[in-house]
Amino acid sequence: MPPTKPTITLLSPIEDVPSVGPRRGEAFRRLGIPSVAHLLFHLPHRHEREEAEAPIKELVAGAVVTARGEVTATDMIPRGRKPRFRAVLADHTGRLDLIWFHGGYLRDKIHPGMRLLVQGKAKRHPSAGHNDNALQLINPKWEPLPDTDDPPAIAETRLRPVYPASEELTPVMIESAISAVLEPALTLIEDHLPPHFRKERELPELADAYRMMHHPSSADEVVQARRRLAYDELLMLQLGVHMRRAHLRQTMHAPALHWTEEIEERILSRIPFTLTRGQRRVIDDLIADLTKPTPANRLIQGDVGSGKTVVALYAMLLAVASGKQAALLAPTELLAEQHALSISALLEGSKVSVELLTGSLPPAERSAALGRIERGEANLIIGTHAVLTESTRFADLAVAVIDEQHRFGVRQRATLREKSGDDASMPHTIVMTATPIPRTLSLTIFGDLDVSTIPDLPPGRQPITTRVLPERDASVAYEALRERIERGEQGYVVVPAVDAEELKNVRTTMERLEKGALKGKRLAAVHGRLKRETRDAIMARFRAGKIDALIATTVIEVGVDVPNSTIMIVEHAERFGLAQLHQLRGRVGRGGTESECFLIGEPTTPDSNARLTALASTTDGFALAEKDFEIRGPGEIFGSRQSGLPPFRVADLTRDLDLLGMARRDAAAWIDRSATLGAPTEELLKRRLLKAYGVELGLGDVA
Ligand code: ADP
Ligand code: MG
Repeated sequence: MPPTKPTITLLSPIEDVPSVGPRRGEAFRRLGIPSVAHLLFHLPHRHEREEAEAPIKELVAGAVVTARGEVTATDMIPRGRKPRFRAVLADHTGRLDLIWFHGGYLRDKIHPGMRLLVQGKAKRHPSAGHNDNALQLINPKWEPLPDTDDPPAIAETRLRPVYPASEELTPVMIESAISAVLEPALTLIEDHLPPHFRKERELPELADAYRMMHHPSSADEVVQARRRLAYDELLMLQLGVHMRRAHLRQTMHAPALHWTEEIEERILSRIPFTLTRGQRRVIDDLIADLTKPTPANRLIQGDVGSGKTVVALYAMLLAVASGKQAALLAPTELLAEQHALSISALLEGSKVSVELLTGSLPPAERSAALGRIERGEANLIIGTHAVLTESTRFADLAVAVIDEQHRFGVRQRATLREKSGDDASMPHTIVMTATPIPRTLSLTIFGDLDVSTIPDLPPGRQPITTRVLPERDASVAYEALRERIERGEQGYVVVPAVDAEELKNVRTTMERLEKGALKGKRLAAVHGRLKRETRDAIMARFRAGKIDALIATTVIEVGVDVPNSTIMIVEHAERFGLAQLHQLRGRVGRGGTESECFLIGEPTTPDSNARLTALASTTDGFALAEKDFEIRGPGEIFGSRQSGLPPFRVADLTRDLDLLGMARRDAAAWIDRSATLGAPTEELLKRRLLKAYGVELGLGDVA
């Protein structure tokens, strides 16, 4: 009896697919495709219009043609330093010249006897030669055909899927493997979305979406398929985020803080100005959050200089008024120090004890500080993200404020949960960012956060004029700096710094300016390699007006607040990101004097040019964030590493905004109805959700 063919299931090993077999199976496995299901989920990254195949004799000049045949000869046509590679392709009707410019690399890839599938624009042979009437294809696309199992001829013009491939596996091999199982496999795909739900949203069935992705009959089908699969990804993530949030709300508690008018008055008496309307509104949001026994999870967005610190301070003092602790986590030591300094100044003469905890604290001081925190003697703890999330134990942490969230992902926030001794209790979490997160992204990645925005700036802010200058005109900027110094103002010169380069950049710039443009002025340098005391001393002298200009690396990017500083010059501005430059620029324009910013650079790419132009055109951080998002795409801003989430396979946040909004609304409503997706009809959906995001979102204890 002949061996029976194995029945294909989604779980069948890849070797069971006709045309694959054991040896090629290994190659598939190395590409991350061990089973039929994985094969089906290996989606084309694009589709190409492909003309129907024809015998060589019937090909017409001027058209894009597809043909297959055997290579009968190859040679190199010398053309100075740009030799061409030629192969003659023949079938039973005729022959065709294939020419590749700079084709030397093909010499050991294409050889006589090989069978090829080729596609390209056909041209009449320009000069009569050995192959008079023949056509030729210039730089055609080509695929070797397998010796056995020739894929079926391309019978009609179609959209051909192009698959991500590997050295060992060509897109055609992948295509024929998929073709071999597509029909039977599709019948095995179950949809996790109910029919009425799909219908309302005009989404195709899941199996259909896969069919249209692998074998589209029109461009519109590809669009339909993409839409379904992208929506699924977005929905899964949003379901996960909402499920987790619902779980935390139900099972975790946080201390409900007291609020009274008397407490409010005491706190406001420490703040030396009238709050802006935006600040007041956000504080009201926070009061509502913090007086509830459920853990708050709020993102506060406010442009550089909008006054987020006092908002945070309000929340922290509310914790202290209830006899509990609060922590402020900053991304850099310099910023933590700045916060400690300004907050201590505001609290001078009060009973609140402020503790600064950073990595550079000497061991003895550090353990003393940790002791005070653990015993509850420290009320308000300020430190770097790293230090506060790692080793610190709090006596009674009620509020954690994370400043400048853009460097702080979902996972780190989750670790804060473990900070409050009691298993079911966690601090209220407030996240602040000045790099406004484009709305789209805050929805996906921080979908579990409530968002408050400070839309206004404190009164009296001065406009900042921004100019982009090429390197040869840098003297214009330094002349302006010099003039301002002579009027009693101060300024920053920022240089890019990458590790070992850091010191050198700062030093050479400093020397150049000391001898040249800023001769006789009082200059000092700050960078990440300085000892903390040295850096503190320099910053204190700068604040006191004893230094005219600070030559700095991006250590001054956030938090530095010296109102008399009215000018910034950024060297090699093209090397900085847009958000970073916006942050840097926010160091000026803080006092009563109009300010300016010079971006010196030679933008060498369209992107860097677009960034600098955008900066010169507006100081609105929200507008800039959207621009940045357009220029770089979401992956770059919040790489999946930062967000702690796997990248999307199909969804693309730059173009799937409407889908994202829909997925978010749908997920919220769904989880409202069914918090753990426990109904029998939801079983498949839930299984797929846990598989996709269970680990990343910590859903293990939820479901
Ligand atoms: P950011 O939002 O960038 O963190 P900060 O909290 O550092 O901004 O505030 C920037 C400056 O504005 C600080 O000097 C702060 O004291 C001041 N400030 C904040 N709120 C107000 C206000 N309502 N009126 C006047 N000045 C304010
Ligand atoms: Mg700030």
